[in-house]
Amino acid sequence: MAETPTPSTFYIMTSIPYVNGKPHIGHALEAVQCDTLARHHRLIGDDTRFHTGTDENALTNLQAAEKEGIPIQELVERNSERFRSFREPLALTNDIFFRTSTDERHFPGAQRLWLACAEAGDIYKRHYKGQYCIRCERFYRPDELENDRCPIHDTVPELVDEENYFFRLSRYEDTLRELITSNTLLVQPEHRREEMLAFIDRGLEDFSISRQSERGRGWGVPVPGDPSQIMYVWVDALSNYITALGYETDDPLFDRYWLSNPRRVHVVGKDIIRFHVIYWPALLLSARLPIPTIVNVHEFLTVDGERISKSRGNTVDPLALVELYGNDALRYWLLREMPRTGDGNFSHDRLISRYNEDLGNDLGNLVNRAVSMLHRYRGGVVPTIADPDVRNATLRDIAGGTAAVIDDALAAFDFRKAIAAIWELVTAANKYVDDTKPWELAKAAKAGDALAEQRLDGVLADLIETIRLLSVHLAPFIPLGAEKIANQVGFELGDTPDRGWSDLLAGRTLPKASPIFPRIESAESAPA
Ligand SMILES: [Zn+2]
Repeated sequence: MAETPTPSTFYIMTSIPYVNGKPHIGHALEAVQCDTLARHHRLIGDDTRFHTGTDENALTNLQAAEKEGIPIQELVERNSERFRSFREPLALTNDIFFRTSTDERHFPGAQRLWLACAEAGDIYKRHYKGQYCIRCERFYRPDELENDRCPIHDTVPELVDEENYFFRLSRYEDTLRELITSNTLLVQPEHRREEMLAFIDRGLEDFSISRQSERGRGWGVPVPGDPSQIMYVWVDALSNYITALGYETDDPLFDRYWLSNPRRVHVVGKDIIRFHVIYWPALLLSARLPIPTIVNVHEFLTVDGERISKSRGNTVDPLALVELYGNDALRYWLLREMPRTGDGNFSHDRLISRYNEDLGNDLGNLVNRAVSMLHRYRGGVVPTIADPDVRNATLRDIAGGTAAVIDDALAAFDFRKAIAAIWELVTAANKYVDDTKPWELAKAAKAGDALAEQRLDGVLADLIETIRLLSVHLAPFIPLGAEKIANQVGFELGDTPDRGWSDLLAGRTLPKASPIFPRIESAESAPA
């Protein structure tokens, strides 16, 4: 039997995207992964906070606004709303949606972090000349460019020649190596940890942390005491994880979820890992603040085998997918199909077949069959079992072990493994129906076989309890579907439902069976 983990605190953060374009399915992936973790930790009783938002002070936003001929405030407001509006269709439970250009806590917080680094002697001014890719918002060394172009955007970087403030990253090289090697800062999965250690071993150079205000038309967080400069957008953006907790005002939230919390967890894409594993912890170390405890890195989603990009026109809109196929289908596909390492590939056909096979056939039919039989043979009332020998030990054992496997898998950010454990239980329950043949027990019972009567009670009670547990285990992954399954067996999920085998439902009268995961017929109406 699994030991129940001791409740603790858990702060989970998505990265905050630039808002110069529309959200795509990759953004939905990160949001849904974090939401699943947040829901899971609430379910096991942890004091959980789920943070997300948008990064609005980037030069690239300014360029997008100028291109459209609208004020920058209008552009970020409109585009930020596109990300914020994920909440309902994706069934997200974020506690905050933080905007770095409008939240009044952000500028003072970012400036306080800057001053703390300056006080530590880690900020100095120097003349700098370099190749800057505005869309990456970073400098490139000549040897990092491909044919003098940005390796990611295939654009010619801008030659920037100005006086900037620098951060003494070089000072933290040994400390960061030690923190990552000892897993005090746990970088997952393993090959990403190795990548970062190799990056440190090549030597950490001080980096520029400001831009001339003029170049950014004054858009951004002013450098404290020097209005001619604005903060480098990554420094301002990274600080959002603590400014949103009220770092500058000593809000109790900051103590609760950052200073005193043993789990400060980032989920980021593989393209921005360096900012979260190197730059961000270094800034925090300089400011004498705790660093993140975990940075989990996810890979990219490709669409029909190609990397998602605006220029390819393959930016699948997650909200359109929810409209077409429903929330359960999209969330389930994202969590079930995205591999732990290596890119995942989206296609409409794969999403539809996953949904139809797993949710429709395996799970939906199990619920439907069990509840229908309960109505046919017991008038919809869950039997109360006096003799435990008529219960099935194998099913109970499998069900009893599922919670622990989920806990371990999610601690390792392995959503697939967690779902596989749940499906082991679904499969076992379906096999149980096939093996015990309740319809034959019912026939024998009707002919006067008292033992068959008792065994039928046992089988039906086992199945209904298994379905109750499935609703609990599935709640973090497909919350809407899980709620429907719970309703079907007369159960209220509530905040911290019982995750172990029980007789909670004995004696309850269940509603008539109705299909929970109606079949999706084809992708013909799917958007290109
Ligand atoms: Zn670039």
